[in-house]
Amino acid sequence: MRKANCIFCKIATGEIPSRTLYEDDDFKVILDLEPATKGHALILPKSHADNLYELPDEIAEKVLKLAKQMAINMTEKLGADGFNLVQNNGTVAGQTVHHFHMHLIPRYADDGQDINWEKSQPSSEDLDAVKEQIVG
Ligand code: AMP
Ligand code: ZN
Repeated sequence: MRKANCIFCKIATGEIPSRTLYEDDDFKVILDLEPATKGHALILPKSHADNLYELPDEIAEKVLKLAKQMAINMTEKLGADGFNLVQNNGTVAGQTVHHFHMHLIPRYADDGQDINWEKSQPSSEDLDAVKEQIVG
């Protein structure tokens, strides 16, 4: 399924060109145009889903397997020292293109990137309350 005016749908069909690293019936893997590091790539499902919440289970099942294969291959080919998988859902979470995608970010000892967050120190009670909110 395609969504009108979705840039990643247009990339998936080839209407907008991309540097494609891998393609099969379900996915296209492309180089990010504004990479965090050398080799930063994106896994795009060919069928439109806005985000993880909408992603069909059969695509969700396949996406981590593909991410693993790409990470192994790219780490070897690029001589990376590590790898981040990043997947943003919703504007507040940093999603700017609302077509599900997974970032494949090779990491290098000297890449100068910091893909991290500020840690907090909740009380034990606060952690218990969060757990109850989720599973209770
Ligand atoms: P996110 O912030 O998780 O939605 O990530 C969107 C990513 O898409 C960003 O890293 C952009 O650099 C990348 N991007 C946007 N347009 C293109 C494009 N035409 N080709 C390749 N990457 C793109
Ligand atoms: Zn789309």
